[in-house]
Amino acid sequence: MTIQLEKYTCLVCGGAGEEHTRLDGNLRRCPSCTFAWTAHPLPPTTELYDESYFTGDGYEDYYLPRPRRYESARRLRWLQHTTRTHQPTTLIEAGSAGGYFIKAAQHAGITAHGIEISAHAARHARDHLGVPVHHGHFETFTPPHRVDAVCAFHVLEHVENPRQFLHAAHRMLNPRGWLALEVPNIASAAATRLGTNWPHLQFRYHRWHFTPDSLLRLVTTTGYDVVTCDTVFSRFYWRPWGRLRHARDLLVADWAAAGSPLVRHPRLGDALRLVARRHEGGWPT
Ligand SMILES: [Zn+2]
Repeated sequence: MTIQLEKYTCLVCGGAGEEHTRLDGNLRRCPSCTFAWTAHPLPPTTELYDESYFTGDGYEDYYLPRPRRYESARRLRWLQHTTRTHQPTTLIEAGSAGGYFIKAAQHAGITAHGIEISAHAARHARDHLGVPVHHGHFETFTPPHRVDAVCAFHVLEHVENPRQFLHAAHRMLNPRGWLALEVPNIASAAATRLGTNWPHLQFRYHRWHFTPDSLLRLVTTTGYDVVTCDTVFSRFYWRPWGRLRHARDLLVADWAAAGSPLVRHPRLGDALRLVARRHEGGWPT
């Protein structure tokens, strides 16, 4: 077996060193902070997210209304519950895909806009759901007004530089505005058990692979105060009547590790969720 060593500087903790690959040569991981990244270079985001990504090539069909509405409703309920002390009335969603979360937020009385790197997805959201979605890079977007909340669900693992992304969100937020993130959790029970068969690895599209510790560290060092961070198992987003791809493997892995049928877990679920508020009074060191 060939051991491929690579010199690195960790994007999250700034640690430097040499690290060999894991998971059949696809992954490298910082031994200091557990942050991991895809070992091979990926094309720019502008080239990756064409129509095929959103209709099955990337993950699943982002335009199927029923599962997307179900998922969006769960995310909105979580956001509203977590921000109940000061609920957002304006919101930007980065990577809004088919526009279903924007639609759900609007339905709840929130003035919501999307920013989407894929022209095809942005057009779909505008034409089919009638929601305002701007086609472009979130990192260089300048909204006409700051907003109360920036949301990015399964986006941070795709972007070219997560620090730049979080700085852009900081710039768009009102003082003490909310940041809501969801990313795959590479420290989940299922990821540990299934290895390269864990369906959320997606090495063709995911540049970055977060754990609860590395995500917390990144967010707190880019100008935010974390309010909550937990995980949900994949089944949290399965509709009772939905198509259950990978269901058996994930259920067995979750049960073996967590030993319970709960859908939430502090650290072991597949999806890592975090809500933070814009830190005021200078950048934390
Ligand atoms: Zn690190």
